Amino acid sequence: MAEQCIFCRIVAGEAPGDIVYQDKDFLAFRDISPQAPIHLLIIPKAHITSLAQLADEQQELAGRLVILAKKLAEKEGITERGYRLVINCGSEGGQLVPHLHLHLIGGRKLGDRLG
Ligand code: 5GP
Ligand code: ZN
Repeated sequence: MAEQCIFCRIVAGEAPGDIVYQDKDFLAFRDISPQAPIHLLIIPKAHITSLAQLADEQQELAGRLVILAKKLAEKEGITERGYRLVINCGSEGGQLVPHLHLHLIGGRKLGDRLG
């Protein structure tokens, strides 16, 4: 755990989070400032600063993260309508929280532009 990391603090139960799912490796919770009716953040519990820090050996973790997002989309009832998965990486990628996270966004028609 990184002491100053807000997402590590949510994992540790030291900061509040509207948690919708967890297992031994992953946590999913609602974004505090949702961009759409459904906006979940799905994170590995281990502190990985960004996608750029993900190692080749972590491809299983990365795959499971995406499969989990797919399942949570089903649980949230947005599979039929569609949704978007986003990983922001680094400053120009718009990453504000330096703990790897996947945004699951849906529940409304999303814009055509990505950035
Ligand atoms: P990024 O720009 O790093 O990809 O996205 C960070 C996201 O984390 C933003 O959508 C922001 O609203 C969300 N966020 C930041 N701090 C907190 C927090 O303390 N709790 C929750 N639930 N979401 C947060
Ligand atoms: Zn962290």
